Amino acid sequence: METRIYDVSRMDEAALAHIAEAAEVIRRGGLVAFPTETVYGLGADAFNEKAVAAIYEAKGRPSDNPLICHIARASDLGQLTPRLSEEIVKLADNFWPGPLTMVLEKKPAVPDRTTGGLSTVAVRMPDHPAALELIRRADCPIAAPSANLSGRPSPTTGRHVIADLNGRVDVILTAEDCRVGIESTVLDLSGERPLVLRPGILTPEMLGVCLSRPVEFDPGVVAQTCVHAEDLEKEGFLPGQVDAPKSPGMKYKHYAPKAEMIVLEGQKDRVREEAERLARVNEALGRRVGILFFEEQAFVEAAHDFFARLRDMDEAGVDLILAAALSDKDQVGFAVMNRMLKSAGYHIVSVK
Ligand code: AMP
Ligand code: MG
Repeated sequence: METRIYDVSRMDEAALAHIAEAAEVIRRGGLVAFPTETVYGLGADAFNEKAVAAIYEAKGRPSDNPLICHIARASDLGQLTPRLSEEIVKLADNFWPGPLTMVLEKKPAVPDRTTGGLSTVAVRMPDHPAALELIRRADCPIAAPSANLSGRPSPTTGRHVIADLNGRVDVILTAEDCRVGIESTVLDLSGERPLVLRPGILTPEMLGVCLSRPVEFDPGVVAQTCVHAEDLEKEGFLPGQVDAPKSPGMKYKHYAPKAEMIVLEGQKDRVREEAERLARVNEALGRRVGILFFEEQAFVEAAHDFFARLRDMDEAGVDLILAAALSDKDQVGFAVMNRMLKSAGYHIVSVK
């Protein structure tokens, strides 16, 4: 398939014409990759089963991993969910457009393909002018997972999308690098207690303030994000193995760089020394080593850079990535650690 690639970063007349062309592709059941503020998305008409099936095909994504439906107006929520609560409206008012996905009861009209057979639907309004224009023009909710090949680090630049999907989709719209850098916070509002199923830049604390009641991480997510094996065992989990995670996407191999990756955890100076030692040993064996350290307390920056750094190291032919764990006491640090541990396949070394 020939992929049409358009830069829409300027949102000028030419860009608007390209977005209109992309919207027409969506209306006809095609696939369009597009920028958002979190990561790039790969979109199709959420109500078109065949188009949605093509997303799974293009990404190589397991079919029980549901997609997020992207809308451009809060009033479009009514197409997807039968009931709006005060809390849903409050969250939409406060955080949309923005990096918050709400999991809500689904209307029967939403195809099972889109929701991976679940009785709930995930909805978000992205904070990006090109994405919003595309959705408005297509005039339907756009179902979109991240625009990477399944298992690869999420794409935060147009280059990443082209590397993974050129020749596999109809159109790729590119713009500036993604502002947030990690995927949206997924908040489940379908149960009694609001639970964060996927951590993101919007934290349970911020969501709790808006709702005037506590919002917590899903226990499965907490278990997946433990760096200390002892803590995991206390909770009765094996690293990376959580029974029936509520968010189906959480159980798959995720975000993996081509390189082997190890997360080093412990006191900062000791971690640095150990990384240098391991780098020397591995370089002596002829392996290329990449070091992934972030500034202390710079959690938002770490979120912004994380996936791009993994892809840069792959491009540079790195064989082994040595990453320093961030503090998971900070809720944004926790969101980055959730991804980092998956990228490393839960290969964690505690440095004493
Ligand atoms: P991606 O777009 O690749 O970031 O994947 C979408 C994420 O949203 C995955 O982790 C899904 O498991 C999650 N998700 C989508 N719909 C639902 C839903 N109805 N219930 C729980 N999680 C969902
Ligand atoms: Mg993804």
